[in-house]
Amino acid sequence: AFDVLVIGGGPAGASAAIYAARKGIRTGIAAERFGGQVLDTMAIENLISVPETEGPKLARALEEHVRQYEVDIMNLQRASQLVPAGADGLHEVRFENGAALKAKTVILATGARYRALGVPGEEQYRAKGVAYCPHCDGPLFKGKRVAVIGGGNSGVEAAIDLAGIVAHVTLLTHGAQLRADAVLQRKLHSLPNVQVILNAPIAEVTGDGQKVNGLLYKDRVSGETRRLDLEGVFVQIGLLPNSEWLKGTLELSERGEIIVDARGATSLPGVFAAGDATTVPYKQIVIALGEGAKASLAAFDHLIRTSAP
Ligand code: FAD
Repeated sequence: AFDVLVIGGGPAGASAAIYAARKGIRTGIAAERFGGQVLDTMAIENLISVPETEGPKLARALEEHVRQYEVDIMNLQRASQLVPAGADGLHEVRFENGAALKAKTVILATGARYRALGVPGEEQYRAKGVAYCPHCDGPLFKGKRVAVIGGGNSGVEAAIDLAGIVAHVTLLTHGAQLRADAVLQRKLHSLPNVQVILNAPIAEVTGDGQKVNGLLYKDRVSGETRRLDLEGVFVQIGLLPNSEWLKGTLELSERGEIIVDARGATSLPGVFAAGDATTVPYKQIVIALGEGAKASLAAFDHLIRTSAP
């Protein structure tokens, strides 16, 4: 059995595996897709001390760093069930392919995925004008026109954030009103370069074959389809934690995030979690790296208190 078994191979999982391996304990990492969301990212400019890199390059670097240690790497493994420890003190993780692994401690780092609009052009222009993370990609649109899709807190926060960087922001929501907190809405309406369009489901993201040049939305009041010319579309309709397989096993928040304490401990003793899959706010690479390290140190602490030498 492993001392520490990490599930997920994004920044949080890689960091957790390295911290565990450096303690000289038996460490494994199983991931559906090593690299995680980083693989889907082009420019990364906010990983402190690395002024500029690209997603696939960072994903390779994460894996290379893990490979410098004695870590069992199991790629292309999708976990489907966590069976909490019984009398033998070993948790079991079962995988979709029928395999199962046992470990004294488990670190869950399965990340999250942005909910997509599911309209024509969105996939085609992903990272070519279609973006999901304003903290990450906002500066790439300096001086340009962008749309933010989504009338909840994350959409309105993104619009406020982007308004300080880009030339103009159009916030569109399919709803008849914004759902964001009143204080955010007041701030939004005070900004001179933001327009809000309600009742406006997105029909298509358009482009010139290389990058985004606009979008089409339906005006639900008139029934007409209208066009906006712009260079960027930020989709802010939800971040979904990859925690469906844990439902009923440990405590999740209303949004499905794994509830963790300041040390990354979940509601199950010996099971820790880190990164975008958890309740820790602000989903960023630099945060996931730190949280992974923290969960791993907490797992080690747990081991030295509970395991026989
Ligand atoms: P993830 O990166 O999501 O990794 C999760 C891992 O778990 C993956 O290996 C996945 O395959 C695996 N997994 C999931 N479910 C299972 C399962 N059931 N069984 C086994 N394995 C599983 N952040 C920045 O700081 N700067 C940026 O510029 C930036 N740009 C971004 C651009 C885009 C398009 C996106 C989508 C995100 C961006 N982010 C950026 C956010 C950043 O990528 C995340 O915050 C970070 O990757 C989270 O790390 P994580 O390890 O928690 O999860």
